[in-house]
Amino acid sequence: MSSTASSKRVAVIGGGILGVSAAVHLLRQGASVVLLTERGLASEATGRSLSWLNSAGERSTPYHLLRLAGVDRYRTLFASDPGREWLQFGGGLMWNAAGQHAVTESRHAYEKSVGYDSKLLAPEEIAAVTPGIDSSAVPENAIFNPGEGWVSLPDLVDFLMEEFHARGGQLVLNAGKASVTVEDGRTTGVGTAAGETYAADAVLVACGAATPAVVAPLGVHIPNGSPVSMLVLTKPVDHDVRAVMNTPRAAVRPNPGNTFALDHDWYEEHITGHADGSFSIPDDVVQELADEASRLIAGNPELKPASWKIGYKPIPGDGEPVFGELDQVPGCFVAFTHSGATLGLIAGELLSGEIMTGNKHPMLATFRPGRFS
Ligand SMILES: Cc1cc2nc3c(=O)[nH]c(=O)nc-3n(C[C@H](O)[C@H](O)[C@H](O)COP(=O)(O)OP(=O)(O)OC[C@H]3O[C@@H](n4cnc5c(N)ncnc54)[C@H](O)[C@@H]3O)c2cc1C
Repeated sequence: MSSTASSKRVAVIGGGILGVSAAVHLLRQGASVVLLTERGLASEATGRSLSWLNSAGERSTPYHLLRLAGVDRYRTLFASDPGREWLQFGGGLMWNAAGQHAVTESRHAYEKSVGYDSKLLAPEEIAAVTPGIDSSAVPENAIFNPGEGWVSLPDLVDFLMEEFHARGGQLVLNAGKASVTVEDGRTTGVGTAAGETYAADAVLVACGAATPAVVAPLGVHIPNGSPVSMLVLTKPVDHDVRAVMNTPRAAVRPNPGNTFALDHDWYEEHITGHADGSFSIPDDVVQELADEASRLIAGNPELKPASWKIGYKPIPGDGEPVFGELDQVPGCFVAFTHSGATLGLIAGELLSGEIMTGNKHPMLATFRPGRFS
């Protein structure tokens, strides 16, 4: 299925979920696509994400609607094969610390006001809606959101890349820090660190937390609010947990192979950054997070960390997604967002449509990079 000589040539920089999803959507629409990434696929946030699929809590209406559409696309993928171990819809369960029951109630009331499926539960009611939870860990009340799910992004990237290759996409791994090339104010393609060039009619910069740095030489300012965070994967353990849990001391989701993925932010102060750009954290802090997670699971199984990865979690400075063409550099598009797991499929779909047709999608209207100019 190679592309025709007349097809639009698009270069995508960044082998995370946003770049891979956009590349596949572009190929579906007949583009000739080259996907370049600094090292391997899913080497940054996509390879260490909690990837809870949701629009829980309060946020701007356009962002909420986009996230709902994001979850919808995962539901469609799920329905095509509900047996995939890496994409499941077991709902989400959250609670706050003791003394915060009113905060939980108000979140529930807000979710109901926007039609988000939300159930406020006493601890003893949890077992009836979702299995495998130690309800004695819940101090007052909890919210169960039955429509939520989770995805293992490295598995999703593998799945999408099968289609990428079948449709004739060109993949360039270990490209180093690639950059956008511009002539007479118009995007002309991508240059790699080794001096190779890839001519393109349009370029999508989907470089996660590095996106602001990649567009800065083009004279474009996108504020960067990306914090450092960690994801821990545990060794396999017998359990019945289906829901993603967001709790005061641990966020937990099931992960393929009877393992768990663990995340939170209380340990950030224990992370040390090194001169080579890497990060480290004491082993006992990682074990403490695993112990916190164990307290949430029925039977409190001993959780042993198998691996953990630390790096930047992409978050634009104002918290809202940044999607679309740069006003200053026609032909250059960006995709930079928090919650890129939830938005992974829909962002690729809508951005590829904009790149191929030039028609701006109304759902992205408030997320344009030009708002920072
Ligand atoms: C701990 C954690 C928990 C999270 N939890 C959730 C959640 O519960 N729900 C949710 O929806 N989202 C969540 N996210 C966010 C989500 O995982 C990310 O938004 C998403 O993975 C970002 O994908 P991306 O493709 O934008 O960026 P990345 O995955 O970071 O990929 C960017 C790629 O670009 C490459 N690159 C960078 N610069 C260059 C360059 N100059 N040249 C070539 N390549 C370059 C990098 O090497 C990398 O491969 C979480 C993230 C983290 C880290």
